[in-house]
Amino acid sequence: MDFAEGDALRERLLRVRALGRERMRPLGLEADRLGRPVPPDHPFFQDLVRLGLGRTRWSGGEGSGEGGGARAVVAQAEEMSYWDRGVAVALPGPGLGEAPLLSLGTPAQRERFLGPFREPDRPRWGAMAMTEPGAGSDVAAIRTLARRKGDAFVLDGAKSFAANASRADWIVVFATIDPSLGRDGHRAFVVERGTAGLGDFHVEHKMGLKAYESTSFTLRDCVVPAENLLGGEPRNGERSGFKGALQSFNATRPAIASMAVGMGRAVLDESLAFAREQGLLGLPRVRDRLERMRRRLRAARLLCWRAAWLADLRRANLVEASMAKAFAPQVALEAAVAGMEILGEAGARGDSLVEKLFRDVKAMDIVEGTGQIQRIVMARRLVGLPQ
Ligand SMILES: Cc1cc2nc3c(=O)[nH]c(=O)nc-3n(C[C@H](O)[C@H](O)[C@H](O)COP(=O)(O)OP(=O)(O)OC[C@H]3O[C@@H](n4cnc5c(N)ncnc54)[C@H](O)[C@@H]3O)c2cc1C
Repeated sequence: MDFAEGDALRERLLRVRALGRERMRPLGLEADRLGRPVPPDHPFFQDLVRLGLGRTRWSGGEGSGEGGGARAVVAQAEEMSYWDRGVAVALPGPGLGEAPLLSLGTPAQRERFLGPFREPDRPRWGAMAMTEPGAGSDVAAIRTLARRKGDAFVLDGAKSFAANASRADWIVVFATIDPSLGRDGHRAFVVERGTAGLGDFHVEHKMGLKAYESTSFTLRDCVVPAENLLGGEPRNGERSGFKGALQSFNATRPAIASMAVGMGRAVLDESLAFAREQGLLGLPRVRDRLERMRRRLRAARLLCWRAAWLADLRRANLVEASMAKAFAPQVALEAAVAGMEILGEAGARGDSLVEKLFRDVKAMDIVEGTGQIQRIVMARRLVGLPQ
């Protein structure tokens, strides 16, 4: 494995660091205090677009366009989340909708939906909606129905917890053409903002990560042109929508895991600074906790890098991606608990960064496949059972 960052990535990380320190951390703390997401017309988002951020990784043309590679994505995700993971998700860009478009979309669909994100004229968002009130971990249970009607599909259903959905130009919505077909019935549709029948947007109340909106919404008799079905109708028994979700998760799990590493690093730095200020570093149990945080976070980072490195080589990374996703959020959560214990009363008062991270970090174990689900996947693979 090659650990070298390279000049381009090092430079990008330095930019993220400056942006994180000056803008993202303060904005994340403010959103947490106010208890509401950063609004889409916030000047910070305009500034980012002017700085050339908020763009797609897709470079155009026929390529799947994983610009910068998975290793770079993982390193940047960690650094952004070190400063504020909620703000990192709130940033303009195609978001979680990008991966299914890259893995499933036709060249024309990529051009149409990712093209405007190549050099955006204004902050733009994309979103992805898989989860439903009755279907989280068990994605095969989704009930949003897609019925063919002439040159279109009619979608009916409800989605929940979709990041940035109400401000998105489009949402990649996973639906089923026939629930009795299970995963084979799944399809992914790009539903554009303003489509009749797309509505009832409601920003969910969250314990942490308040800087970005997690939104529920409904689709009622929502007519979507057939050309918005990602990849078109599957041929030769392909599992269009579901395969896309799996592929996108494999590409994004190491990034989600590395976000947890970034958040854990922030806990470590804050706890260390607090312990130093308060003269606690003479206590062996405090030193031991801090050292354990650092050691386990480093191990978690290596798992993320390995999963990303395999992805860059286009080698199967199912187990490695699940390992990183199962391990890193647990390590970060454990760090947050230890940090709260080191801070003691100062943490319990509810105005410290460690306390905010303690509330923010649990979601990392939930999103993109919970820790339990990752462990089930790995255990089945270990003993040779089908996925
Ligand atoms: C902050 C946040 C952001 C999110 N963003 C998005 C988004 O942008 N788009 C989107 O589509 N979704 C999003 N989600 C939804 C997320 O993907 C789901 O919450 C997740 O898949 C878990 O589903 P669930 O909450 O319904 O829990 P459930 O699936 O109901 O699980 C509840 C508990 O049971 C456990 N469990 C479930 N099945 C098993 C099993 N077979 N064996 C053992 N244990 C099991 C789970 O691990 C979990 O601990 C987001 C969620 C959160 C919290």
